[in-house]
Amino acid sequence: MSSSINQLLGMNTPELEELVASLGEKSFRSRQIARWLYQKNAANIAEMSDLSADFRTRLSKAANLCRAQVVNIDRATDGTTKYLLQLEDNQRIEAVLLPYEDRVSVCVSTQVGCALGCRFCATGVGGFVRNLTAGEIVDEVLTLQKETPRSISHVVYMGMGEPLLNYDNVLKSLHLLNEEVGISMRRLTLSTIGITPAIRRLAVEKLQLTLAISLHAPNDALRRQLMPIVVKYPLHELIKACREYTDYTHRRITFEYLLLDGVNDSPDTARQLTSLLKGMLCSVNLIPYNVVAELPFRRPTKERVQAFRAILEKAGIVVTQRMERGHSVSAACGQLRRRD
Ligand code: SAH
Ligand code: SF4
Repeated sequence: MSSSINQLLGMNTPELEELVASLGEKSFRSRQIARWLYQKNAANIAEMSDLSADFRTRLSKAANLCRAQVVNIDRATDGTTKYLLQLEDNQRIEAVLLPYEDRVSVCVSTQVGCALGCRFCATGVGGFVRNLTAGEIVDEVLTLQKETPRSISHVVYMGMGEPLLNYDNVLKSLHLLNEEVGISMRRLTLSTIGITPAIRRLAVEKLQLTLAISLHAPNDALRRQLMPIVVKYPLHELIKACREYTDYTHRRITFEYLLLDGVNDSPDTARQLTSLLKGMLCSVNLIPYNVVAELPFRRPTKERVQAFRAILEKAGIVVTQRMERGHSVSAACGQLRRRD
């Protein structure tokens, strides 16, 4: 953000309390403002009708309420809807609304672009611009909430960017979604490529969220081919950090495994994966590859996926398969990209 003026969206109730105190107002005003921001989804300060006109004027001088602009909407046949959002500095990000029968999820971005350049991902192709603030991440959820009459129940941090390379803002946004918006921590999922030191940091927070690790290969050589950055984070260190994480949180880790035809989907690779994960409190989520036009990867056949899955299950590993959503409008995992 360019200006040093307070941004209301992104402040929690205690921070709002400090702000209202500095303006000579009683502390209950902070709870009123928090309700306008996170419950009533206010578009501006003028809307906050239970604050006096005089206080609203003084508040507007001390603080801004910036909201993202919806600049494009793509709705897929299955109801999945991709939103192109424009931020205060005109940068654009994508967020996805995923309505299911029993819940409504939102997939949020945490950065404008991504610096990590995984070989299979469209986000990496456009490069990295900047981190999102906590307020901007929460705004994605609030803005999409305005677009549906149903209540958003789940948030997955699986959009553009690597959440654990924007640690402080992401952590704050998780707390805001939980404490101010009122979404249970257990309904928040954070997906990371596996930034080991940040996983250790997150472990001691003991949050009840679901941690998802983009594993995609059971050995360092293959992982590096797909995700060059992981040369910094060897697999044995990553697995050690994951074990520590489950010790601290007692939460099952999800290992995401993107199946790429002829690359990481052989029976032998499946067997390596079972020995890597033996005895861990975890499950494996098999992800069908979503094709990105300019990239060379393809999906394996159903039979090959089934054979891979059977090897894991025989070894006692809990396996889930990701439902395919939003393909027709490039709103699926790994298809979000930076647009100017
Ligand atoms: N940067 C984080 C979170 C965003 S990506 C991460 O990498 O985990 C969310 C998930 O989508 C990751 O598991 C990622 O590997 C996966 N993904 C990336 N490109 C994909 C594609 N083309 N098809 C399917 N999944 C993809
Ligand atoms: Fe970045 Fe995740 Fe895409 Fe890799 S898969 S380039 S870490 S967004």
